[in-house]
Amino acid sequence: MSDTNCPYCEADIDINHDGGYGYEEDRIHEQECPKCEKNFAFTTAISFDYTPRKADCLNGGDHRFRTMVAYPVEHTKLVCKDCGLEKRTVNEGFKDRQRAEADALSASTPTSAPEVAN
Ligand SMILES: [Zn+2]
Ligand SMILES: [Zn+2]
Repeated sequence: MSDTNCPYCEADIDINHDGGYGYEEDRIHEQECPKCEKNFAFTTAISFDYTPRKADCLNGGDHRFRTMVAYPVEHTKLVCKDCGLEKRTVNEGFKDRQRAEADALSASTPTSAPEVAN
């Protein structure tokens, strides 16, 4: 099976990767058709690179969430490092931290009299 076909004459074409040419994705490469001798452009999509790994969470185990910090913190999410499951972290921890930050901010604001908080 050939790599592709000439867009002009439909001839079977094997992309010439001499010197590593034409492997780069997201850019336009060119080659000459050996049959009609027209130049044509092509883009490359490299696919099928499998990297298997254990994912216990897909077998009844717990997800191993990792915090992906983002700004603003509401956009921070937890991502399972095994299966890639994403979970938004609008959880107590972040709410508490936000509240703490807000408190710290208002506390540091010079007010006339540091009286009773709450
Ligand atoms: Zn051709
Ligand atoms: Zn998982």
